[in-house]
Amino acid sequence: MVLAAKDYGWEYIGISDHSKSSYQANGMSEETILEQVKRIKQLNLMDDTFQIFSGVECDILKDGELDFSEEILKKLDFVIVSIHRYFNQEEIVMTKRLLKAIENPYTTMIGHLTGRLLRFRDPYQLNVSKIIDACIANNKIIELNSYPSRVDMDWRYWIKAKEKGLKCCINPDAHSTNELMNCKYGINMARKGWLEKKDVINTLPLNEMKLYLKSRSN
Ligand SMILES: [Zn+2]
Repeated sequence: MVLAAKDYGWEYIGISDHSKSSYQANGMSEETILEQVKRIKQLNLMDDTFQIFSGVECDILKDGELDFSEEILKKLDFVIVSIHRYFNQEEIVMTKRLLKAIENPYTTMIGHLTGRLLRFRDPYQLNVSKIIDACIANNKIIELNSYPSRVDMDWRYWIKAKEKGLKCCINPDAHSTNELMNCKYGINMARKGWLEKKDVINTLPLNEMKLYLKSRSN
């Protein structure tokens, strides 16, 4: 992934494997993620023109708690929080669940906000405008997941959200080197939602991105 990202001319990449509850997606245990953090640190020492950021796509559990403890989360550069199970909660329960995850100090951004899979799965029931407001109030990002069947958060929400001050991160949700280029779908959707460079956090050059993530860490 790193070599492919370098080939594309990127200055950095974030690695965010699944957390332990997503065993169906080969989620990492505490030991595995700590080992990964260590290996990434070693790789970063080898090349100071390119940076690998250590992260996770951490499950939001049924009650809004995160799948890893503070001990693990504080060692990471960023934390994406996502829902991968218990999709059928009522709107009020689902919204509360996400609000709790947004208030977690280690959360950097929410992944694929509504969980929709185009032509396959409807979005789960949630109050999107409440979530957007809470993200702005808590200084959290919402991702624009570029996976073609997701493109989530939907472009229709972005124009209003950015006017209120929400920041976006365009992520490829890549599970292979080819899928890094999913980003182009996300970029197109971001444009359709009237997002500009200043609204999208991962347009920052490497040094500013380092500072940005550092300023968020606890
Ligand atoms: Zn996910």
